[in-house]
Amino acid sequence: MIPYGRQLISDDDIEAVEAVLRSDYLTQGPVVPRFEAAVAALVGAAQAVAVNSATSALHVACLALDLGPGDLLWTSPVTFVASANCGRYCGADVDFVDIDPQTFNICPDALQARLEAAARAGRLPKVIVAVHMCGQSPDMARIARLARTHGVRLIEDASHSIGADYRGAPVGNCAHSDITVFSFHPVKIITSAEGGMALTNDAELGARMARLRSHGITRDKDLMTHAPDGPWYYQQLELGWNYRMTEMQAALGLSQMERLDAFIARRRDLARRYDAMLADLPLRVPWRMPGAQSSWHLYVIRLDDPTRHRATFEALRAGGIGVNLHYIPVHLQPYYRRLGFGPGDFPAAEDYYARAISIPLHAGLTDDDQATVVAALSGALAA
Ligand SMILES: *Cc1c(COP(=O)(O)O)cnc(C)c1O
Repeated sequence: MIPYGRQLISDDDIEAVEAVLRSDYLTQGPVVPRFEAAVAALVGAAQAVAVNSATSALHVACLALDLGPGDLLWTSPVTFVASANCGRYCGADVDFVDIDPQTFNICPDALQARLEAAARAGRLPKVIVAVHMCGQSPDMARIARLARTHGVRLIEDASHSIGADYRGAPVGNCAHSDITVFSFHPVKIITSAEGGMALTNDAELGARMARLRSHGITRDKDLMTHAPDGPWYYQQLELGWNYRMTEMQAALGLSQMERLDAFIARRRDLARRYDAMLADLPLRVPWRMPGAQSSWHLYVIRLDDPTRHRATFEALRAGGIGVNLHYIPVHLQPYYRRLGFGPGDFPAAEDYYARAISIPLHAGLTDDDQATVVAALSGALAA
C-alpha cells in the first residue's frame, strides 16, 4: 500500500532520541525548550509552548483566551474534529462557518455575513479557529480584520502548515492571530511522534499556556498569592492538565527540523508534478492562493462526477493506493448531530465531502510511487 502520508525518519533522528534516553532527563529537561526556541525562531513568533499534541495545544489556547461555558467558538466544518472539540472541552458552544469551495478554508464572505448577523443578535463568538486546510493559509488578513471589528479572538489551526508562507512571511508568526497551533503527528510535515506547539507574540498568553500544560502550577514568586514557604514551594493558580511533551519527542522534532526545508521542497515538487499529470482527468486539482505557498500536507482532488466517488475510492484502495478522505464534515459526526447539526447545514462542506479524495503525498514518496498513483487513478476513472 502506498500511504497518503507517512513520516521520514533518518539515522540522525534515531541518534537524537537515543542521546536523550542516555541523558539525565526524559521529561522537563533542556530539549523541549530548545525545540520551542527553534520553532519560534523559524516562524518569527515571540514564544512557543510545546505540548503532547496539537489537540492539547488547541485546548490550552482556548483556555488562555478565557473560553468557557456560555461562550461560543466558530470553526470550519472541513477539518479534523479537534478544531471544534477544543471549544467543547472548555464547556463552550461550537458552531461552524461554511467553506469556500475553491480554497477548502473558511469562507471570508460567509464569515463576514455571519459575524454581522451575530453582532445584531448579540451572540458573537469569543474565539474563531481558522484552519489551514491541506497546508494552505486561509485569507488571514481579512479574517483578522473581521475578528478585530467584532472583538473576536483568533486561533490559527496550522496543524498542516509548518513550513508554509502567507504574504511572504512564515505561517506561525501570529501576525494575524492571537495563537497559532502546529501538529507533529507522524502524517504531518515534521513529526515528534505525538506532539504539538502553540505560538504567540503575547507574553501573557504564552505564560498562561505554559502553566496550563503543567497542572496550572507556577514557581514564579511574583505570581504567587504570598511569599514562598521555602525553596521547595510552588502554587497551583488554576486548574491545568499534564499536557507536557517528553524530551524524546522534542529531540525527534528538533532533529526533523533540520530537514523541514527539504521535506517542503519535495512536497511542492510532487504537487507540481501531480498538477501536470492529472490535468486531463475529470477532476479538479487544488487551487493555489496568490502570494502564499502551501506546505502541501495534503493533495486533495475533487471528482467532477460525485456519483463516481465511492467506486473510485474503493478501486484505488483495492489497487494498493492508500487514499484517504480529509475530512468527514465535523457537523455530520454523531456527537455534533446530537448537538443539533445535520445534513444541509453547510452545503459547500457537504459537496466537498461528496467529491474529495486525498491522494498520496509525503516527503518519502518516489517518482515511481507517484506514477503508480496516477496510473491507478486514471484506470479507476476510465472504468
Ligand atoms: C492533526 C490535526 C489536529 C490534531 O493534531 P494532533 O497532534 O494529532 O492532536 C488538529 N487539527 C487539524 C486540522 C489536524 O489536521
